[in-house]
Amino acid sequence: MPAIGSSRRGFIKTMGAVAAAVTCGRAEAAKAEDYKPQDQKKLTQAAARYQDHPQRDESCGSCPYFIFPKSCVVVEGEISATGWCPMYTIFSPLDRGAHA
Ligand code: SF4
Repeated sequence: MPAIGSSRRGFIKTMGAVAAAVTCGRAEAAKAEDYKPQDQKKLTQAAARYQDHPQRDESCGSCPYFIFPKSCVVVEGEISATGWCPMYTIFSPLDRGAHA
């Protein structure tokens, strides 16, 4: 019955690989569970490529992310109403694209 023994070894090897895969999967799942969106921090000014002057006619003062008098929802630090970053938009974050 060498075939059965060989098959048994193959089965054990396969189960070892499956167990390793499951273990790795659990490790990934644990990392995903550790993710808490509320712990996200704002972007640094450098990461956001913030500049302290307007870009053409666009400036933080007219961006919906701007919080009067000198901060931003998504970028950390002191933000000037006359500053700008590439995330500038005129659309409200609450706008879900309901326009026709
Ligand atoms: S342009 Fe808008 S998103 Fe960018 S820093 Fe100014 S307020 Fe924030």
